[in-house]
Amino acid sequence: MKKILLGLIGASLLFACENAPKDNKIEEAKTVNTALAFKLSNLDTTEKACDNFYQYAIGGWLEENPIPSTESRWSSFNVVNEANNKKLRSILEEFSSKGNDKNELEQMLGDFYLSVIDSANADALGITPLKAELEKIEALESKSELIELIAEQKKLGVNSLFGLYVGQDDKNSEQYITNLYQSGLGLPDRDYYLNDDAKSKEIQAAYLLHIEKMFDLAKEETAKEKANKIYQIEKDLAKISMSRVDRRNPENTYNKFSLSKLETDYPSVNWNNFMNTIGLDQVDSLIVGQPDFFKGLDQQLTAVSLEDWKAYLKWRLLDTYASELSSEFVSQNFNFYGTTLSGTKEIKPRWKRALSKVNGNLGQLLGKAFVKRHFGEEAKADVGQMVENLRAVFKERIMQLEWMSEETKEKAIEKLIAFNYKIGYPDKWRDFSSLEIAADQQVQNVMNARKFNFEYMINKLGKPVDQDEWFMNPQTVNAYYSSSKNEIVFPAGILQPPFYSTEADDAINYGGIGAVIGHEFTHGFDDQGSKYDAKGNLSNWWTEEDRKRFDARAKMVVEQFNGFEPLDSLHVNGKLTLGENIADLGGVTLAFHALEKELSKKGKPEPIDGFTYQQRFFLGWAQVWHMNMTEEELRKRVTTDPHSPGEYRVNGPLANMDEFAEAFDCAKGSSMQNSDSTRAVIW
Ligand SMILES: [Zn+2]
Repeated sequence: MKKILLGLIGASLLFACENAPKDNKIEEAKTVNTALAFKLSNLDTTEKACDNFYQYAIGGWLEENPIPSTESRWSSFNVVNEANNKKLRSILEEFSSKGNDKNELEQMLGDFYLSVIDSANADALGITPLKAELEKIEALESKSELIELIAEQKKLGVNSLFGLYVGQDDKNSEQYITNLYQSGLGLPDRDYYLNDDAKSKEIQAAYLLHIEKMFDLAKEETAKEKANKIYQIEKDLAKISMSRVDRRNPENTYNKFSLSKLETDYPSVNWNNFMNTIGLDQVDSLIVGQPDFFKGLDQQLTAVSLEDWKAYLKWRLLDTYASELSSEFVSQNFNFYGTTLSGTKEIKPRWKRALSKVNGNLGQLLGKAFVKRHFGEEAKADVGQMVENLRAVFKERIMQLEWMSEETKEKAIEKLIAFNYKIGYPDKWRDFSSLEIAADQQVQNVMNARKFNFEYMINKLGKPVDQDEWFMNPQTVNAYYSSSKNEIVFPAGILQPPFYSTEADDAINYGGIGAVIGHEFTHGFDDQGSKYDAKGNLSNWWTEEDRKRFDARAKMVVEQFNGFEPLDSLHVNGKLTLGENIADLGGVTLAFHALEKELSKKGKPEPIDGFTYQQRFFLGWAQVWHMNMTEEELRKRVTTDPHSPGEYRVNGPLANMDEFAEAFDCAKGSSMQNSDSTRAVIW
């Protein structure tokens, strides 16, 4: 997850996921693809469409699909992922059982998978694979050595204190720049440390105990004392961290520093030396995401003793690699992050964990094998046509907007025309040939892969921007918009039912992948994406008046979502989820009108199963958001996830749409129809 996020900074996803599969036993691959387009049994006809459309459209599904014990959330994304996982597993098993005649790709994938599957080896080794790294920490004699080691550990994916990545410059998308950002917490968000309600206190105590137990397992002395020190360090980091809502605004996080200003402002770190150790010897300027955090961190580095920093560094290392170690570490790690934080009852079977590690570390390599066997070019052409249909509708709608001036419209259309799109899989595959993978070295494999991926990222600095790069693997069931590239990307993984099927009717496909395409397009025009221009630069193209009118409309969306209360006194955060909610509202609207346009050419179809095509369109959107969640997972997501829970991704946007009210003949004043004064219409 952390690895994937690194590539995706600055990109808006359709869905935040650590994709996860369902059952424990191996099943033969079934013909999932045809059965899933739309099922009547997913409905709950005891509910009325105009009262609670979500319940009406998918109540049957929610009832019939309880959360498996190995999951904290069960959704359409999981179901599709489940089918993908079976395909991916069979690829990995085939490669890992091949003899000596395997090619490089088969060797790497097969051996990586085998190294994780081999639980006996992991159990025999215990903490041994981390010994050398732990000893390096213990041997530290000064704070300058400490900083150097932090730099070394970044290559292994250990984010102590702060993070670093090389990505496109927000204000000059034609070049890469180094970015520093706040990090270093073991809990999912700063609020977990700062809130003091009963539930938060319970989690804080459990986390403290978790650190202690992990240190006991690692045979560290004075585990309890260390745990207390570590918790205090993290809590102090939390206090100086910028909130998620503030971090959404790219203007807050774009702070350009010269290397010498960095040295002057944060003198506790020898930054020149730090960059050299990382492998970045040509840094002259860089972006500091959260200057206040780095200011506070500078003081903290001086105030905290070297001994306490050693404990903290050991914890970050253990926490990062816990799931690669012997069963007792794996279980303890799962008990806290899986059960306490997410409400998952049982750990996933080993093959699924192994598969997810291959996905996380060698994802594109596995994707290459996946699309070769499981992706048809027909889908690529068909979905490409849908993208163009959506773009045409978006253009017409922008031209007709009443609240936007001609001047801004011209710029908006310029941006829309400049949108690039990618479908299926990359044209150019990354070269993994210098990466070393062995069948009996799980931890070393993960370290090698992380170093390899880190170097790949670091090496971008100073080179022209790679326009062919993908930030998602082809097998991933998701999609994204990149504001710096001004492009939308739809991996092969999502081009399956219920999102898309060559066998489904247009209404279902437009309600599914069509609305997903519209969602990604709209990200370029959501409250933050709209600050980037056609070339992907953070540069204002709006008149002041138009921006005011846009903000007033966006504010209505914030208020609508603040009003949703998934659990007693737990409200959706309208500001945190604003970009996604605007994207959903725009996406569904654009897709609906693209469908109308398509059918006006092809001819309007007869109702199917008693539903008009307009109704089927909205049912198609609802079934994208089939979703059951544990209470713990829901609490976690409301705090950390910029996406609203599924129920509100359906009812939220549709209650603003006359198109919906007309399709289901909803009377004025019904729950699924916002009043004229509260209705939000943007795009
Ligand atoms: Zn999104």
